[in-house]
Amino acid sequence: MTGTKTYKGFSTKETPQSERIPGSKQVQNDAGGYSFQIDSWGKLNRFLILGSEGGTYYASEHKLTKENAKNVLKCIEEDGHRVVNTIVEISDAGRAPKNDPALFALAACASFGDDATKKAAFRALPQVARIGTHLFHFAAYVEQFRGWGRGLREAVGDWYTSKSPKDLAFQAVKYQSRDGWSHYDLLRLSHVALAGEGREAVARWITDGMDGFGKKVVKDKNGKIVRKYPAIDKSLLPDIIVGFEKAKTVEDEDEIVKLIEKYKLTFEMVPTQFHTSAKVYDAILPNLGLTAIIRNLGNMSKSGYLAKGQWEAKDLICEKITNAEALKKARVHPIALLSALNTYNSGHSVRGKGEWEAVPDVCDALEKAFYLSFGYVEPAGKRFILALDVSGSMGVGEIAGVPGLTPAMAAAAMAMVTYKTEKKTELMAFAHEFRAIDISRCEKLETVLKKTDCNNFGGTDCALPMLWALQKGIQVDAFIVYTDSETWFGSIHPSQAIAKYRKETGIPAKLIVVGMTANDFTIADPKDSGMMDVVGFDTAAPDIMTQFVAGRGF
Ligand code: CA
Repeated sequence: MTGTKTYKGFSTKETPQSERIPGSKQVQNDAGGYSFQIDSWGKLNRFLILGSEGGTYYASEHKLTKENAKNVLKCIEEDGHRVVNTIVEISDAGRAPKNDPALFALAACASFGDDATKKAAFRALPQVARIGTHLFHFAAYVEQFRGWGRGLREAVGDWYTSKSPKDLAFQAVKYQSRDGWSHYDLLRLSHVALAGEGREAVARWITDGMDGFGKKVVKDKNGKIVRKYPAIDKSLLPDIIVGFEKAKTVEDEDEIVKLIEKYKLTFEMVPTQFHTSAKVYDAILPNLGLTAIIRNLGNMSKSGYLAKGQWEAKDLICEKITNAEALKKARVHPIALLSALNTYNSGHSVRGKGEWEAVPDVCDALEKAFYLSFGYVEPAGKRFILALDVSGSMGVGEIAGVPGLTPAMAAAAMAMVTYKTEKKTELMAFAHEFRAIDISRCEKLETVLKKTDCNNFGGTDCALPMLWALQKGIQVDAFIVYTDSETWFGSIHPSQAIAKYRKETGIPAKLIVVGMTANDFTIADPKDSGMMDVVGFDTAAPDIMTQFVAGRGF
Protein backbone atom coordinates (compact mmCIF):
# COMPACT_ATOMS: atom_id res chain seq x y z
CA MET A 1 0.00 0.00 0.00
CA THR A 2 1.31 3.43 -0.82
CA GLY A 3 0.64 6.70 0.91
CA THR A 4 -0.59 8.82 -2.03
CA LYS A 5 -3.87 10.54 -1.70
CA THR A 6 -5.29 10.45 -5.19
CA TYR A 7 -3.74 7.87 -7.52
CA LYS A 8 -3.09 4.97 -5.24
CA GLY A 9 -0.15 2.85 -6.29
CA PHE A 10 1.31 5.30 -8.80
CA SER A 11 3.13 7.80 -6.67
CA THR A 12 6.89 7.93 -6.78
CA LYS A 13 6.97 10.13 -3.69
CA GLU A 14 6.03 7.63 -1.05
CA THR A 15 6.74 3.97 -1.56
CA PRO A 16 6.83 1.43 1.23
CA GLN A 17 10.29 0.03 1.84
CA SER A 18 9.02 -3.42 0.90
CA GLU A 19 8.65 -2.15 -2.68
CA ARG A 20 11.08 -0.69 -5.16
CA ILE A 21 10.77 3.03 -5.83
CA PRO A 22 9.26 3.04 -9.33
CA GLY A 23 11.82 3.87 -11.99
CA SER A 24 14.76 3.50 -9.61
CA LYS A 25 17.55 0.96 -9.67
CA GLN A 26 16.88 -0.23 -6.15
CA VAL A 27 17.62 -3.85 -5.32
CA GLN A 28 16.18 -6.15 -2.71
CA ASN A 29 18.35 -6.16 0.40
CA ASP A 30 18.94 -9.16 2.62
CA ALA A 31 16.11 -8.14 4.95
CA GLY A 32 13.61 -8.27 2.05
CA GLY A 33 13.23 -4.51 1.73
CA TYR A 34 14.56 -2.37 -1.11
CA SER A 35 17.74 -0.31 -0.91
CA PHE A 36 20.03 1.33 -3.40
CA GLN A 37 23.26 -0.39 -4.27
CA ILE A 38 26.66 1.17 -3.85
CA ASP A 39 28.83 0.73 -6.91
CA SER A 40 31.69 -1.75 -7.01
CA TRP A 41 34.20 0.95 -5.96
CA GLY A 42 32.15 1.89 -2.95
CA LYS A 43 31.97 -1.77 -2.10
CA LEU A 44 35.73 -2.09 -2.48
CA ASN A 45 36.16 0.73 0.04
CA ARG A 46 33.84 -0.96 2.51
CA PHE A 47 35.75 -4.22 2.16
CA LEU A 48 39.18 -2.62 2.55
CA ILE A 49 38.10 -0.81 5.70
CA LEU A 50 35.61 -3.14 7.36
CA GLY A 51 36.77 -6.52 6.04
CA SER A 52 34.45 -9.50 6.07
CA GLU A 53 35.60 -11.03 9.32
CA GLY A 54 32.78 -12.31 11.51
CA GLY A 55 30.15 -11.91 8.77
CA THR A 56 26.91 -10.04 9.39
CA TYR A 57 23.45 -10.85 10.72
CA TYR A 58 22.42 -11.86 7.20
CA ALA A 59 25.60 -13.26 5.67
CA SER A 60 28.14 -15.72 7.02
CA GLU A 61 31.79 -14.74 6.98
CA HIS A 62 32.35 -17.18 4.15
CA LYS A 63 29.58 -15.71 2.00
CA LEU A 64 30.62 -12.15 2.70
CA THR A 65 34.26 -12.94 1.87
CA LYS A 66 33.29 -14.64 -1.36
CA GLU A 67 31.08 -11.76 -2.48
CA ASN A 68 33.77 -9.22 -1.69
CA ALA A 69 36.48 -11.26 -3.41
CA LYS A 70 34.31 -11.36 -6.53
CA ASN A 71 33.89 -7.61 -6.34
CA VAL A 72 37.66 -7.08 -6.01
CA LEU A 73 38.11 -9.06 -9.24
CA LYS A 74 35.42 -7.01 -10.92
CA CYS A 75 37.18 -3.77 -9.98
CA ILE A 76 40.54 -5.13 -11.17
CA GLU A 77 38.97 -5.91 -14.51
CA GLU A 78 37.49 -2.42 -14.71
CA ASP A 79 40.60 -0.49 -13.68
CA GLY A 80 43.48 -2.36 -12.04
CA HIS A 81 45.53 0.77 -11.42
CA ARG A 82 42.71 2.37 -9.53
CA VAL A 83 42.43 -0.71 -7.30
CA VAL A 84 46.14 -0.61 -6.47
CA ASN A 85 45.95 3.13 -5.76
CA THR A 86 42.91 2.68 -3.52
CA ILE A 87 44.65 -0.09 -1.58
CA VAL A 88 47.78 2.02 -1.07
CA GLU A 89 45.76 5.07 -0.07
CA ILE A 90 43.76 3.27 2.61
CA SER A 91 46.55 1.01 3.88
CA ASP A 92 49.32 3.57 3.99
CA ALA A 93 47.24 6.14 5.85
CA GLY A 94 46.17 3.53 8.40
CA ARG A 95 42.49 4.19 7.68
CA ALA A 96 41.43 0.57 8.23
CA PRO A 97 41.52 -1.34 11.52
CA LYS A 98 43.16 -4.30 9.80
CA ASN A 99 45.61 -4.51 6.93
CA ASP A 100 44.54 -8.00 5.82
CA PRO A 101 41.86 -6.94 3.31
CA ALA A 102 44.43 -4.63 1.66
CA LEU A 103 46.99 -7.44 1.45
CA PHE A 104 44.36 -9.80 0.07
CA ALA A 105 43.29 -7.29 -2.59
CA LEU A 106 46.91 -6.53 -3.49
CA ALA A 107 47.59 -10.25 -3.89
CA ALA A 108 44.58 -10.39 -6.23
CA CYS A 109 45.97 -7.46 -8.28
CA ALA A 110 49.34 -9.24 -8.46
CA SER A 111 47.60 -12.35 -9.75
CA PHE A 112 44.64 -11.35 -11.90
CA GLY A 113 45.55 -7.90 -13.17
CA ASP A 114 46.92 -7.17 -16.61
CA ASP A 115 50.69 -6.68 -16.85
CA ALA A 116 50.57 -3.01 -15.89
CA THR A 117 48.38 -3.77 -12.86
CA LYS A 118 50.67 -6.57 -11.74
CA LYS A 119 53.66 -4.29 -12.01
CA ALA A 120 51.90 -1.58 -10.01
CA ALA A 121 50.95 -4.14 -7.36
CA PHE A 122 54.55 -5.35 -7.07
CA ARG A 123 55.82 -1.80 -6.80
CA ALA A 124 53.29 -1.11 -4.04
CA LEU A 125 54.27 -4.18 -2.02
CA PRO A 126 56.65 -2.46 0.46
CA GLN A 127 54.08 0.30 1.08
CA VAL A 128 51.28 -2.14 1.90
CA ALA A 129 53.36 -4.96 3.41
CA ARG A 130 55.27 -2.78 5.83
CA ILE A 131 56.38 -5.45 8.30
CA GLY A 132 57.35 -9.10 8.10
CA THR A 133 53.94 -10.32 9.23
CA HIS A 134 52.25 -8.38 6.42
CA LEU A 135 54.62 -9.98 3.92
CA PHE A 136 53.76 -13.45 5.25
CA HIS A 137 50.04 -12.73 4.94
CA PHE A 138 50.57 -11.47 1.41
CA ALA A 139 52.47 -14.67 0.56
CA ALA A 140 49.69 -16.80 1.98
CA TYR A 141 47.06 -14.94 -0.10
CA VAL A 142 49.04 -14.77 -3.31
CA GLU A 143 49.82 -18.46 -3.23
CA GLN A 144 46.11 -19.26 -3.38
CA PHE A 145 45.97 -17.36 -6.65
CA ARG A 146 49.16 -17.96 -8.63
CA GLY A 147 52.60 -19.55 -8.87
CA TRP A 148 55.97 -18.07 -8.00
CA GLY A 149 56.72 -16.52 -11.37
CA ARG A 150 59.49 -14.06 -12.04
CA GLY A 151 57.61 -10.83 -11.28
CA LEU A 152 56.49 -12.08 -7.88
CA ARG A 153 59.94 -13.46 -7.03
CA GLU A 154 61.52 -10.13 -7.86
CA ALA A 155 58.97 -8.15 -5.88
CA VAL A 156 59.49 -10.24 -2.76
CA GLY A 157 63.25 -10.15 -3.35
CA ASP A 158 63.13 -6.34 -3.58
CA TRP A 159 61.34 -6.22 -0.25
CA TYR A 160 64.47 -7.73 1.30
CA THR A 161 67.17 -6.04 -0.76
CA SER A 162 65.74 -2.56 -0.26
CA LYS A 163 66.23 -2.78 3.51
CA SER A 164 69.38 -1.82 5.38
CA PRO A 165 71.14 -4.67 7.24
CA LYS A 166 69.86 -3.20 10.51
CA ASP A 167 66.23 -2.98 9.34
CA LEU A 168 66.43 -6.42 7.84
CA ALA A 169 67.77 -7.86 11.09
CA PHE A 170 64.98 -6.16 13.02
CA GLN A 171 62.32 -7.65 10.72
CA ALA A 172 63.98 -11.06 10.97
CA VAL A 173 63.95 -11.22 14.76
CA LYS A 174 60.72 -9.36 15.41
CA TYR A 175 58.52 -11.10 12.87
CA GLN A 176 59.96 -14.58 12.58
CA SER A 177 57.06 -16.51 11.12
CA ARG A 178 53.29 -16.40 10.72
CA ASP A 179 50.62 -18.51 9.03
CA GLY A 180 53.15 -21.19 8.16
CA TRP A 181 55.42 -18.69 6.42
CA SER A 182 58.88 -17.54 7.46
CA HIS A 183 61.65 -15.35 6.05
CA TYR A 184 63.50 -18.55 5.29
CA ASP A 185 60.66 -19.70 2.99
CA LEU A 186 60.46 -16.36 1.23
CA LEU A 187 64.20 -16.02 0.70
CA ARG A 188 64.24 -19.52 -0.75
CA LEU A 189 61.21 -19.00 -3.01
CA SER A 190 62.28 -15.59 -4.26
CA HIS A 191 65.82 -16.84 -5.06
CA VAL A 192 67.03 -13.46 -3.90
CA ALA A 193 70.75 -12.91 -3.40
CA LEU A 194 71.27 -10.48 -0.54
CA ALA A 195 74.39 -8.59 -1.40
CA GLY A 196 76.58 -6.53 0.89
CA GLU A 197 78.25 -8.10 3.88
CA GLY A 198 75.83 -7.04 6.60
CA ARG A 199 72.82 -8.25 4.59
CA GLU A 200 74.57 -11.44 3.62
CA ALA A 201 75.22 -12.16 7.28
CA VAL A 202 71.55 -11.65 8.13
CA ALA A 203 70.50 -13.92 5.26
CA ARG A 204 72.93 -16.59 6.41
CA TRP A 205 71.55 -16.33 9.94
CA ILE A 206 67.98 -16.66 8.62
CA THR A 207 68.79 -19.74 6.55
CA ASP A 208 71.41 -21.51 8.66
CA GLY A 209 71.32 -20.02 12.15
CA MET A 210 74.30 -19.07 14.32
CA ASP A 211 76.32 -22.16 13.37
CA GLY A 212 76.00 -21.64 9.64
CA PHE A 213 78.66 -19.00 9.00
CA GLY A 214 81.39 -21.27 7.65
CA LYS A 215 81.96 -22.23 4.02
CA LYS A 216 78.83 -23.67 2.51
CA VAL A 217 78.17 -25.93 -0.43
CA VAL A 218 74.82 -26.78 -1.96
CA LYS A 219 74.53 -30.19 -3.60
CA ASP A 220 71.88 -31.53 -5.93
CA LYS A 221 70.11 -34.82 -5.28
CA ASN A 222 72.94 -36.81 -6.86
CA GLY A 223 75.44 -35.31 -4.48
CA LYS A 224 76.99 -33.03 -7.09
CA ILE A 225 78.03 -29.61 -5.84
CA VAL A 226 75.93 -26.92 -7.57
CA ARG A 227 76.89 -23.84 -5.56
CA LYS A 228 79.62 -22.76 -3.20
CA TYR A 229 79.44 -20.00 -0.64
CA PRO A 230 82.41 -18.51 1.20
CA ALA A 231 82.54 -18.22 4.97
CA ILE A 232 80.99 -15.06 6.41
CA ASP A 233 82.34 -13.01 9.28
CA LYS A 234 79.91 -13.45 12.16
CA SER A 235 80.86 -10.08 13.60
CA LEU A 236 78.99 -8.45 10.71
CA LEU A 237 75.67 -9.48 12.26
CA PRO A 238 73.65 -6.46 13.39
CA ASP A 239 73.41 -5.97 17.16
CA ILE A 240 69.76 -6.89 17.45
CA ILE A 241 70.41 -10.47 16.30
CA VAL A 242 73.37 -10.79 18.68
CA GLY A 243 71.17 -9.61 21.55
CA PHE A 244 68.33 -11.90 20.53
CA GLU A 245 70.66 -14.91 20.46
CA LYS A 246 72.11 -14.02 23.87
CA ALA A 247 68.65 -13.56 25.39
CA LYS A 248 67.68 -17.11 24.44
CA THR A 249 69.84 -18.67 27.12
CA VAL A 250 69.49 -16.13 29.91
CA GLU A 251 67.83 -17.27 33.11
CA ASP A 252 68.51 -14.35 35.38
CA GLU A 253 66.22 -11.33 35.49
CA ASP A 254 68.94 -8.74 35.99
CA GLU A 255 70.85 -10.15 33.10
CA ILE A 256 67.86 -9.99 30.72
CA VAL A 257 67.28 -6.40 31.80
CA LYS A 258 70.88 -5.58 30.82
CA LEU A 259 70.43 -7.22 27.42
CA ILE A 260 67.15 -5.41 26.80
CA GLU A 261 68.82 -2.09 27.51
CA LYS A 262 71.99 -2.80 25.56
CA TYR A 263 70.44 -4.33 22.45
CA LYS A 264 67.07 -2.52 22.50
CA LEU A 265 65.12 -5.78 22.56
CA THR A 266 61.33 -6.00 22.29
CA PHE A 267 58.95 -8.67 23.60
CA GLU A 268 59.41 -10.89 20.55
CA MET A 269 63.09 -11.18 21.44
CA VAL A 270 62.71 -11.86 25.15
CA PRO A 271 61.87 -15.35 26.45
CA THR A 272 58.26 -15.51 27.66
CA GLN A 273 59.18 -16.38 31.26
CA PHE A 274 60.25 -12.74 31.67
CA HIS A 275 57.05 -11.25 30.27
CA THR A 276 55.51 -10.91 33.72
CA SER A 277 58.23 -8.96 35.46
CA ALA A 278 57.86 -5.32 36.45
CA LYS A 279 61.62 -4.79 36.08
CA VAL A 280 61.48 -6.10 32.52
CA TYR A 281 58.59 -3.76 31.67
CA ASP A 282 60.53 -0.85 33.05
CA ALA A 283 63.54 -1.69 30.87
CA ILE A 284 61.65 -2.61 27.71
CA LEU A 285 59.23 0.34 27.53
CA PRO A 286 61.56 2.71 25.62
CA ASN A 287 62.02 0.01 22.94
CA LEU A 288 58.32 -0.59 22.36
CA GLY A 289 56.17 0.86 19.63
CA LEU A 290 52.79 2.34 20.54
CA THR A 291 50.89 -0.72 19.32
CA ALA A 292 52.90 -3.01 21.59
CA ILE A 293 52.36 -0.69 24.55
CA ILE A 294 48.61 -0.55 23.96
CA ARG A 295 48.41 -4.33 23.67
CA ASN A 296 50.40 -4.93 26.84
CA LEU A 297 48.63 -2.61 29.26
CA GLY A 298 46.95 -5.53 31.01
CA ASN A 299 50.23 -7.42 31.39
CA MET A 300 51.95 -4.31 32.66
CA SER A 301 49.28 -3.92 35.31
CA LYS A 302 49.43 -7.60 36.21
CA SER A 303 53.18 -7.37 36.74
CA GLY A 304 52.75 -4.46 39.11
CA TYR A 305 54.70 -2.11 36.85
CA LEU A 306 51.64 -0.09 35.95
CA ALA A 307 49.56 0.26 39.09
CA LYS A 308 47.99 2.86 41.32
CA GLY A 309 50.73 4.93 42.88
CA GLN A 310 53.36 3.96 40.31
CA TRP A 311 53.52 7.59 39.27
CA GLU A 312 56.40 7.49 36.85
CA ALA A 313 55.24 4.48 34.87
CA LYS A 314 51.71 5.84 34.75
CA ASP A 315 52.78 9.27 33.52
CA LEU A 316 55.13 7.84 30.95
CA ILE A 317 52.51 5.51 29.50
CA CYS A 318 49.72 8.08 29.49
CA GLU A 319 52.01 10.56 27.79
CA LYS A 320 52.99 8.05 25.14
CA ILE A 321 49.48 6.93 24.26
CA THR A 322 48.09 10.44 24.02
CA ASN A 323 50.75 11.73 21.65
CA ALA A 324 48.78 12.60 18.50
CA GLU A 325 51.84 12.64 16.27
CA ALA A 326 53.02 9.24 17.49
CA LEU A 327 49.54 7.74 17.13
CA LYS A 328 49.45 8.82 13.53
CA LYS A 329 52.96 7.63 12.78
CA ALA A 330 52.29 4.21 14.30
CA ARG A 331 48.95 4.05 12.44
CA VAL A 332 47.10 3.23 15.64
CA HIS A 333 43.48 2.76 14.63
CA PRO A 334 40.55 3.91 16.82
CA ILE A 335 39.20 0.35 16.81
CA ALA A 336 42.45 -0.88 18.37
CA LEU A 337 42.10 1.76 21.08
CA LEU A 338 38.45 0.95 21.66
CA SER A 339 39.30 -2.72 21.93
CA ALA A 340 42.20 -1.99 24.31
CA LEU A 341 39.99 0.24 26.44
CA ASN A 342 37.30 -2.42 26.63
CA THR A 343 39.76 -5.14 27.62
CA TYR A 344 41.83 -3.04 29.99
CA ASN A 345 38.78 -1.68 31.75
CA SER A 346 37.35 -5.13 32.29
CA GLY A 347 40.43 -6.15 34.27
CA HIS A 348 40.97 -9.43 32.50
CA SER A 349 42.04 -10.58 29.05
CA VAL A 350 39.56 -11.96 26.53
CA ARG A 351 40.79 -15.47 27.21
CA GLY A 352 40.26 -14.78 30.90
CA LYS A 353 43.85 -15.53 31.84
CA GLY A 354 44.90 -13.52 34.86
CA GLU A 355 43.41 -10.36 36.26
CA TRP A 356 44.55 -6.86 37.02
CA GLU A 357 43.30 -3.68 38.55
CA ALA A 358 42.74 -1.06 35.86
CA VAL A 359 44.27 2.35 36.50
CA PRO A 360 41.63 5.04 35.80
CA ASP A 361 44.18 7.50 34.37
CA VAL A 362 45.16 4.92 31.77
CA CYS A 363 41.51 4.43 30.78
CA ASP A 364 41.19 8.19 30.38
CA ALA A 365 44.33 8.26 28.25
CA LEU A 366 42.98 5.51 25.98
CA GLU A 367 39.74 7.42 25.66
CA LYS A 368 41.60 10.57 24.70
CA ALA A 369 43.72 8.60 22.23
CA PHE A 370 40.55 7.24 20.60
CA TYR A 371 39.45 10.74 19.62
CA LEU A 372 42.97 11.83 18.69
CA SER A 373 43.35 8.88 16.32
CA PHE A 374 40.70 10.32 13.98
CA GLY A 375 42.88 13.36 13.45
CA TYR A 376 41.68 16.94 13.72
CA VAL A 377 38.18 17.58 12.41
CA GLU A 378 37.26 21.20 11.77
CA PRO A 379 33.65 21.72 12.86
CA ALA A 380 31.14 22.45 10.10
CA GLY A 381 29.04 24.52 12.50
CA LYS A 382 25.86 23.03 11.06
CA ARG A 383 22.83 21.30 12.61
CA PHE A 384 23.07 17.52 12.81
CA ILE A 385 20.93 14.54 13.65
CA LEU A 386 23.11 11.49 14.32
CA ALA A 387 20.88 8.44 14.05
CA LEU A 388 22.06 5.05 15.23
CA ASP A 389 20.39 1.98 13.79
CA VAL A 390 19.90 -0.25 16.84
CA SER A 391 17.69 -2.86 15.16
CA GLY A 392 18.37 -6.57 15.66
CA SER A 393 20.79 -6.96 12.78
CA MET A 394 23.15 -4.33 14.19
CA GLY A 395 23.70 -6.43 17.30
CA VAL A 396 25.22 -9.33 15.38
CA GLY A 397 28.72 -9.63 13.96
CA GLU A 398 32.09 -8.35 15.06
CA ILE A 399 33.77 -5.23 13.78
CA ALA A 400 37.35 -5.98 12.68
CA GLY A 401 37.29 -9.27 14.59
CA VAL A 402 37.16 -7.57 17.99
CA PRO A 403 35.28 -9.92 20.32
CA GLY A 404 31.99 -8.43 21.46
CA LEU A 405 32.23 -5.27 19.36
CA THR A 406 29.00 -5.27 17.37
CA PRO A 407 28.21 -2.88 14.49
CA ALA A 408 25.79 -1.05 16.83
CA MET A 409 28.47 -0.45 19.47
CA ALA A 410 31.06 0.56 16.91
CA ALA A 411 28.57 2.94 15.30
CA ALA A 412 27.85 4.61 18.62
CA ALA A 413 31.54 5.07 19.39
CA MET A 414 32.10 6.53 15.97
CA ALA A 415 29.11 8.86 16.26
CA MET A 416 30.70 10.30 19.40
CA VAL A 417 33.43 11.89 17.25
CA THR A 418 30.92 14.10 15.41
CA TYR A 419 28.79 14.50 18.54
CA LYS A 420 31.76 16.05 20.34
CA THR A 421 32.89 18.14 17.36
CA GLU A 422 29.59 19.78 16.45
CA LYS A 423 27.64 21.83 18.97
CA LYS A 424 24.20 21.60 17.38
CA THR A 425 23.81 17.86 17.34
CA GLU A 426 21.25 15.38 18.61
CA LEU A 427 22.15 11.73 19.02
CA MET A 428 19.30 9.29 18.67
CA ALA A 429 18.55 5.64 18.06
CA PHE A 430 15.98 3.86 15.94
CA ALA A 431 14.77 0.44 14.91
CA HIS A 432 11.18 0.24 13.64
CA GLU A 433 10.41 2.96 16.16
CA PHE A 434 12.35 5.52 18.10
CA ARG A 435 14.31 4.28 21.01
CA ALA A 436 15.47 6.72 23.62
CA ILE A 437 19.20 6.74 24.11
CA ASP A 438 20.62 8.92 26.85
CA ILE A 439 24.17 9.49 25.80
CA SER A 440 25.68 12.88 26.53
CA ARG A 441 28.60 14.55 24.82
CA CYS A 442 30.77 13.89 27.85
CA GLU A 443 29.75 10.24 28.13
CA LYS A 444 32.63 7.84 28.60
CA LEU A 445 33.17 5.40 25.76
CA GLU A 446 32.80 2.55 28.20
CA THR A 447 29.28 3.73 28.99
CA VAL A 448 28.51 4.37 25.32
CA LEU A 449 29.43 0.77 24.52
CA LYS A 450 27.41 -0.58 27.43
CA LYS A 451 24.34 1.40 26.47
CA THR A 452 24.42 0.14 22.90
CA ASP A 453 25.26 -3.47 23.71
CA CYS A 454 22.54 -6.11 24.01
CA ASN A 455 19.86 -3.59 23.24
CA ASN A 456 19.36 -4.43 19.59
CA PHE A 457 15.99 -5.71 18.54
CA GLY A 458 13.16 -4.99 16.18
CA GLY A 459 12.68 -4.16 12.52
CA THR A 460 14.47 -1.46 10.60
CA ASP A 461 13.09 1.81 9.32
CA CYS A 462 15.88 4.12 8.20
CA ALA A 463 13.38 6.85 7.22
CA LEU A 464 12.56 7.53 10.87
CA PRO A 465 15.21 10.20 11.58
CA MET A 466 13.86 12.41 8.78
CA LEU A 467 10.21 11.79 9.64
CA TRP A 468 10.90 12.49 13.31
CA ALA A 469 12.60 15.82 12.55
CA LEU A 470 9.75 16.77 10.24
CA GLN A 471 7.11 15.88 12.77
CA LYS A 472 8.87 17.79 15.56
CA GLY A 473 9.67 20.75 13.34
CA ILE A 474 13.41 20.44 13.96
CA GLN A 475 15.75 22.26 11.62
CA VAL A 476 18.50 19.99 10.38
CA ASP A 477 21.29 20.49 7.85
CA ALA A 478 22.48 16.91 7.86
CA PHE A 479 21.18 13.53 8.88
CA ILE A 480 23.91 11.01 9.53
CA VAL A 481 22.57 7.48 9.66
CA TYR A 482 24.80 4.69 10.99
CA THR A 483 23.34 1.51 9.56
CA ASP A 484 23.74 -1.69 7.54
CA SER A 485 21.05 -0.27 5.18
CA GLU A 486 18.93 -3.41 5.56
CA THR A 487 15.83 -1.25 5.82
CA TRP A 488 12.41 -2.80 5.18
CA PHE A 489 9.90 -1.70 7.76
CA GLY A 490 8.76 1.79 6.89
CA SER A 491 5.97 3.05 4.67
CA ILE A 492 8.25 5.50 2.88
CA HIS A 493 11.82 5.11 1.64
CA PRO A 494 14.55 7.12 3.41
CA SER A 495 15.47 8.91 0.16
CA GLN A 496 11.82 9.95 -0.23
CA ALA A 497 11.64 11.00 3.41
CA ILE A 498 14.54 13.38 2.98
CA ALA A 499 13.03 14.75 -0.24
CA LYS A 500 9.86 15.39 1.72
CA TYR A 501 11.84 17.00 4.54
CA ARG A 502 13.63 19.31 2.10
CA LYS A 503 10.40 20.26 0.39
CA GLU A 504 8.42 20.96 3.53
CA THR A 505 11.16 22.82 5.43
CA GLY A 506 12.95 24.50 2.54
CA ILE A 507 16.27 23.33 4.01
CA PRO A 508 18.54 21.55 1.50
CA ALA A 509 19.32 18.89 4.09
CA LYS A 510 21.95 16.28 3.39
CA LEU A 511 21.93 12.60 4.14
CA ILE A 512 25.08 10.70 4.97
CA VAL A 513 25.03 6.95 5.28
CA VAL A 514 27.74 5.43 7.44
CA GLY A 515 27.97 1.84 6.24
CA MET A 516 28.71 -0.44 9.17
CA THR A 517 28.95 -3.79 7.33
CA ALA A 518 30.69 -4.85 4.11
CA ASN A 519 27.48 -5.47 2.14
CA ASP A 520 26.64 -3.38 -0.91
CA PHE A 521 23.42 -1.71 0.18
CA THR A 522 22.78 1.92 0.94
CA ILE A 523 19.78 4.07 1.67
CA ALA A 524 21.45 6.99 -0.13
CA ASP A 525 20.27 7.62 -3.68
CA PRO A 526 23.46 7.65 -5.79
CA LYS A 527 21.80 10.14 -8.16
CA ASP A 528 21.25 12.70 -5.39
CA SER A 529 24.34 14.88 -4.87
CA GLY A 530 23.04 15.80 -1.42
CA MET A 531 23.55 12.25 -0.22
CA MET A 532 26.78 10.42 0.38
CA ASP A 533 28.17 7.11 1.58
CA VAL A 534 31.09 6.76 3.91
CA VAL A 535 32.47 3.67 5.58
CA GLY A 536 32.12 3.08 9.30
CA PHE A 537 35.46 3.25 11.06
CA ASP A 538 37.31 4.78 8.21
CA THR A 539 39.49 7.19 10.22
CA ALA A 540 39.01 9.69 7.41
CA ALA A 541 35.20 9.51 7.62
CA PRO A 542 34.48 12.15 10.30
CA ASP A 543 36.48 14.72 8.38
CA ILE A 544 34.96 13.75 5.00
CA MET A 545 31.45 14.03 6.49
CA THR A 546 32.10 17.42 8.01
CA GLN A 547 33.59 18.76 4.78
CA PHE A 548 30.56 17.49 2.86
CA VAL A 549 28.08 19.09 5.24
CA ALA A 550 30.04 22.34 5.36
CA GLY A 551 30.20 22.33 1.56
CA ARG A 552 33.98 22.54 1.65
CA GLY A 553 35.61 20.94 -1.36
CA PHE A 554 32.35 19.44 -2.65
CA1 CA B 1 18.20 -4.22 10.79
